[in-house]
Amino acid sequence: ARNGQYDMLAEHFEKNVDVESIVKLVANRKVSKYPLVVSIVVSEKALLANWEKSASRFVFLGLSICAVLLFMTHRIALYQKQQRLIQEELRSQATTDALTGLANRRFVLDQAGHEIRKAKRSGSPISFVLMDLDYFKEVNDNYGHDIGDMVLKDTAAILKRLCRGSDIVSRYGGEEFLLLLPNTYLDGALTDAERIRKSLEQTSHWCQNKQFTVTASFGVSEWINVEESYENALRRADDARYKVKNRGRNNIMSLPIAKVTPIRKNHSHLRQ
Ligand code: GH3
Ligand code: MG
Ligand code: MG
Repeated sequence: ARNGQYDMLAEHFEKNVDVESIVKLVANRKVSKYPLVVSIVVSEKALLANWEKSASRFVFLGLSICAVLLFMTHRIALYQKQQRLIQEELRSQATTDALTGLANRRFVLDQAGHEIRKAKRSGSPISFVLMDLDYFKEVNDNYGHDIGDMVLKDTAAILKRLCRGSDIVSRYGGEEFLLLLPNTYLDGALTDAERIRKSLEQTSHWCQNKQFTVTASFGVSEWINVEESYENALRRADDARYKVKNRGRNNIMSLPIAKVTPIRKNHSHLRQ
């Protein structure tokens, strides 16, 4: 009867299922003391169905967690990159003049303090070149503020082109520029200033079809390892520039260290 049942089962399988395509697992067990063997036939598919179901759930869960982790890592990396860019932008805004892209007044003064500390240790000189555009108000009045801005940008480009990479070129004020020249004696600074003065004098600016040039007045000073603050050295450059203005502009001048023993003599220089 049991064999008959198995036959019925086999028949059932054969009748209702494509038996060839099913992998069957068969377990035979002899029943002790009886001349009886029990066979259990289960299709592999049925046996593994539950396992497959939970395995696929597990894989899906694992993949989902990986995807979420990947997404979060990507977002964090993106956020950190944005923060870095914002910080760089803020730092750049704090140290750069927006119109010309040159260093701003605060940055050049910070750097002056820094360079002076370095120079005190090494004994090397530093020079300051303070430059003020001549009759710049007239440029604005005659050609408009936008053309005035363009002249400021052109001037900045000339300064950048003619200065060394180690020099700090800054927009010190409206139409004033300060060059901080590390490791530069007065003679070198005067030569640099003259090169810039000539270049400005020879540069044409255009407003519609009108051509004009803008010159500049320069005050130059040298700081060398004496008991002088850089603020005082800067003041000397400013005084020299003021003198140039009074004497007709488009010129260069330097003043010696007042009331402080100069290291080198004949610091005065005035182009004729
Ligand atoms: P001086 O030869 O004595 O230096 O005469 P100046 O006209 O250059 O000097 P003044 O100080 O009388 O005028 C400076 C002018 O610079 C006035 C101001 O409108 C102009 N200026 C300052 N900053 C800017 C700017 O960012 N853009 C423009 N277009 N003009 C500016
Ligand atoms: Mg000025
Ligand atoms: Mg001026």
